Amino acid sequence: KGDCSVPSFKAAELNIKLSMDPVNHHDVFTFGTVFTNHMLTIEWDASEGWQRPMIRPFENLPLHPACSSLHYGVQLFEGLKAYRGDDNRLRLFRPMLNMERMVRSAKRACLPIFEPSELLECIRKLVEVDQDWIPRSDTASLYIRPTLISTEPILSVRKPGRALLFVIMSLAGSFYQATAKGLSLWADAKYTRAWQGGTGDCKMGGNYGGGLVAQSEAEDNGCQQVLWLYGEDHQITEAGTLNIFVHWINEDGEEELATPPLNGIILAGVNRQSILELTRQWGEFKVTERYLNMAQLCGALKQGRVKQVFGSGTACMICSVGEIIYMGEHLHIPCQDKRTQLSARILKQLTDIQYGRTPSDWTFLV
Ligand code: PMP
Repeated sequence: KGDCSVPSFKAAELNIKLSMDPVNHHDVFTFGTVFTNHMLTIEWDASEGWQRPMIRPFENLPLHPACSSLHYGVQLFEGLKAYRGDDNRLRLFRPMLNMERMVRSAKRACLPIFEPSELLECIRKLVEVDQDWIPRSDTASLYIRPTLISTEPILSVRKPGRALLFVIMSLAGSFYQATAKGLSLWADAKYTRAWQGGTGDCKMGGNYGGGLVAQSEAEDNGCQQVLWLYGEDHQITEAGTLNIFVHWINEDGEEELATPPLNGIILAGVNRQSILELTRQWGEFKVTERYLNMAQLCGALKQGRVKQVFGSGTACMICSVGEIIYMGEHLHIPCQDKRTQLSARILKQLTDIQYGRTPSDWTFLV
């Protein structure tokens, strides 16, 4: 296992320094505000390569004010969760997909790469150290945030010679209640999240910071998220930080589950891939990666061909879309009966895997 040609840190060399005053929280806070007792840090520099990984008490980072991550956004991140199953064991969901996506982002950001399985083993150990933070609950989980930043203290725009990989973890609650009526989306073609040749298919911070103004406009217009459109024909690409799926009767009269293809402007979501693989396995309807535009969606809505639109992502798993505001029109999206909707069936199968009720090689035991 592992590619020996990639110079990497080694999980076997992990150095662990435990916190002297650990605390435990089982309350669910606002997402991403309270962090566990420990973090993982791994330093890199161009001459020495990767240093020993360290698990140590959570603390502020000492950063030189000239670091190019602070000035030019030379950084990237990942997001995944640890779940405590009914059997009390902790599981990650397809974490190698996150590790591999992180390496792809690192290449795009000119940051150092590493052996994905070595980082996964360091994260496994970190989760083990702070495992008391993960409650036994179907709605709570531990959100894991691996991050890689340039720490090169120089103002010229150039490939960094120093970097820091760190992993922090935060208790995450459920998203579902907030979206019981379905997400409302604001679709305005004047903003573009990602473009051909850009970085939208990587998890680089600038993609998200650059989208905040659109998110704020969505909220000013009473919507929860942005529906990101692309191009003259207003292609549907993603919703907020979710991949998007349309379950409908397509132009040819076939039942289809469709999501935009990975053509460079779509983030390759772990849940997107899982939903495609799962529904293809069922073999009950056509499952397609294809272009979808607003004219096609509006036409299908008028003709009553849309069964459901939903988004997928680690934060909320699956969120049904209830409404889209587009060119001054409020498009009502049918949500179907909760018991028959496709998203509910997929959600159940995925959570059964995550919480260990269905054995699957998609889970990784901590
Ligand atoms: N699209 C974007 C832009 C995202 O940031 C995310 C969250 N990583 C997703 C889609 C969903 O990806 P995943 O299923 O891996 O969480």
